[in-house]
Amino acid sequence: MESPMKQLILATHNTGKLAELRQMLANLGIEVMSATEAGVTQEPEETGETFKANALMKAQEIAKACGHWCVADDSGICIEALGGRPGVYTARWAGEGASDEQLIAYTLEQMKEVPEGKRGAQFVCCAALVSPDGESWVFEGIVEGKLATESRGVSRAKLPYDSVFIPEGYHLTFAEMDEALKHTMSHRGRAFQKLKTFLVSEEVFPQHQS
Ligand code: IMP
Repeated sequence: MESPMKQLILATHNTGKLAELRQMLANLGIEVMSATEAGVTQEPEETGETFKANALMKAQEIAKACGHWCVADDSGICIEALGGRPGVYTARWAGEGASDEQLIAYTLEQMKEVPEGKRGAQFVCCAALVSPDGESWVFEGIVEGKLATESRGVSRAKLPYDSVFIPEGYHLTFAEMDEALKHTMSHRGRAFQKLKTFLVSEEVFPQHQS
């Protein structure tokens, strides 16, 4: 690996994701910065049809712009009764610029005729890591669960679906859980755990270089 990592840029302007990722990547001995802190203001467009394609697109664009190691996450919710929708359109399916409240109201409206027992859903996250040399890796995390019939708990800004997603084996929504507990099972927690294991095992850090 040619460029040892000293800093890792989080290629997102989603404040909810940033807060979660900072917690997940703490204690790695590297400086974790947002794209804004690294002086990058551009927001890559998400034109891909898969989580993987969008995550790679975002990480590659920001890595190119700033010349550092970059990681981007593309995530969303796939609802069984709706044939896997909204998927990659999770942030946008209630219309461009819809607020968190509008997204939840729209989702519950789509699900209003769907009975208990048919409300299965999964959250998916693809985390793409790109080196300054342009090498890339993708790590996926999935959590199975179901859609609640009403919004419960307080979600972080820009992560609205926490208040309507109940992970398998629990009665609480993600928004009603302690955040550390959410991270142990969430799609993002799982994808980034794989990424962290990779960073350590592949000796990406300067202090681990031989
Ligand atoms: P994107 O990855 O920028 O396309 O946005 C994914 C969208 O999925 C976010 O804006 C949220 O609306 C939703 N989302 C992704 N992960 C979570 C989560 O952990 N909790 C709640 N909503 C999420």
